[in-house]
Amino acid sequence: MQPNTLSRDQHNISRKDISKNALKVLYRLNEAGYSSYLVGGGVRDLLLQQNPKDFDIATDASPEEVKALFKNCRLIGRRFRLAHVVFGRDIIEVATFRAAHSEGEGGATGDSGRITRDNVFGGTLADDAVRRDFTVNALYYNIDDFSVVDFFDGVEHLEQGRLTFIGDAQDRVIEDPVRALRAVRFAAKLGLRMDDDCVAAIEQHRHLLSEIPPARLFEEVLKLVQSGHGVASFELLREHDLLQYLFPLADSRLKQGDEYAETMILRGLGNTDSRIKEELPVTPFYIYAVFLWPDVIAAAQVHEADGFDPVPALHMAADEIVPQQLAATSLPKRYSAPMREVWVMQPRLKNTRGARAKRMLSNPRFRAAYDFLCLRCDTGENLKELCDSWESMQQTPEGQALLEEARKQAASRRRTRAPREGRPSAKKTRSRSRKSGTGTP
Ligand code: ATP
Ligand code: MG
Repeated sequence: MQPNTLSRDQHNISRKDISKNALKVLYRLNEAGYSSYLVGGGVRDLLLQQNPKDFDIATDASPEEVKALFKNCRLIGRRFRLAHVVFGRDIIEVATFRAAHSEGEGGATGDSGRITRDNVFGGTLADDAVRRDFTVNALYYNIDDFSVVDFFDGVEHLEQGRLTFIGDAQDRVIEDPVRALRAVRFAAKLGLRMDDDCVAAIEQHRHLLSEIPPARLFEEVLKLVQSGHGVASFELLREHDLLQYLFPLADSRLKQGDEYAETMILRGLGNTDSRIKEELPVTPFYIYAVFLWPDVIAAAQVHEADGFDPVPALHMAADEIVPQQLAATSLPKRYSAPMREVWVMQPRLKNTRGARAKRMLSNPRFRAAYDFLCLRCDTGENLKELCDSWESMQQTPEGQALLEEARKQAASRRRTRAPREGRPSAKKTRSRSRKSGTGTP
């Protein structure tokens, strides 16, 4: 397979646009005699003159050889073994070229045609390229001569705004159905148009997503809703009927024409997109709280009608609804706990007077609960006065002091939690849960 090679003066990628850490890894591998390339979103986004989210590296060094070169390196993943070179919060993912292989040692394809393991090393750059999902994701920036290597006309497809699978679209979705979600994400984020065979493959094989482990789907949800293009991703998920695999409850409401749910989800995703544009922190629990709320409140109303008070009714509703979501995508406790708190605080926010209101302001979860109240108001609930009075309470000197106290408490909670969250997890797959999962409450 002969690639097109664009020399350094035929493309716009410059080393100053690549993170220092990624350059360090690229150079060290190269100096040790290995080939080392920037690949994936790092190259694709730079060619589009966008800011890459992360930098991925491909090399002919085995994961163990990578580990031997970097003391800040750990090996992760079973299905797809990788090296992570860790620079504080910044993780550079280094993947070894895979070789073409038959069934057996190191590689496996399940009965359904799905790749369950891909760990036969010793491949060439061409072998590596053919395993990647889309033509625009198989572009390599060679640190040795600063050229861009393109096996499948990815550069041309970028120029044409096309999202094209490498190889047979049907086979590629069967091999890994998560690629259907990746297609949506890249189409939304980069404004690319999926080829017809890509759309057809998604439509024909999307049901395979129901067999993907909930933990992997959770990772994909984070990437979709925290891409800065959550609204566009959501629209495409609906268009291709993929939402059912991520948020089955919301999906069936939307299919029944539930306008409250639709408005709330669109505004919630819109808020997240704006925060990302403004480089403000975002947390996964907010968007989960939004997607599940219409079902939680409906279930709570049934319990209230049975005579329960609003707070216990919400607890009971959450106990019923959250497990239904967990069957589709997981949601780690560190997110589901604050999500539930935000729900249960909604009726408590009705009380804007006296000691209780002050306690509320110093609750570390107050800001999230208040934002959620405002979202409900924006969705059309009659909560304007309530939102306004919490808004003005927050402006008083006493309110500011209480909020400050809450911020300190939240920061100290995060500090005590940090070491546990930073621990490498055996469950990690190709996606990086730690990087994408860092939401700030
Ligand atoms: P971004 O990081 O901006 O979300 P990306 O394209 O870099 O997009 P990653 O998930 O970081 O996506 O993966 C890096 C590269 O690894 C991809 O560009 C692609 O070449 C390859 N890759 C990742 N996941 C898959 C997959 N499921 N199937 C085939 N190739 C994949
Ligand atoms: Mg990437």
